[in-house]
Amino acid sequence: MKSGICPKCGSSEVYSGADIPPFTKMGSNWANSIPVTLWNYAALDNYVCVDCGYVESYVADPVKRAAIARKWPRVGEVGEIAAPVAAGSGSCPACGNAVKKGWRACPYCGQPLV
Ligand SMILES: [Zn+2]
Ligand SMILES: [Zn+2]
Repeated sequence: MKSGICPKCGSSEVYSGADIPPFTKMGSNWANSIPVTLWNYAALDNYVCVDCGYVESYVADPVKRAAIARKWPRVGEVGEIAAPVAAGSGSCPACGNAVKKGWRACPYCGQPLV
């Protein structure tokens, strides 16, 4: 999405709110932010595809990202399978779906994996 191409519909009509000042992005209700801890909020940079309406949000502040890494539990094995390409995994040569190392066949198309 940051490259300017919508991952959902392939449109290049992607617009970014990243240059809006952080205070404005927070809004009166801190609506455009996520809670890191009870009183610690991180403002979000939003990327919007105006063709299909898809929105992607990024925490721009590296200090906030470091706080999240300290405060939040790391997503474990289940989350890694859901991720497109996680460490120790690759993609199926036949259908391109994400598969994990050690799997003998692709669960999506049945292609045997070495
Ligand atoms: Zn789109
Ligand atoms: Zn496959």
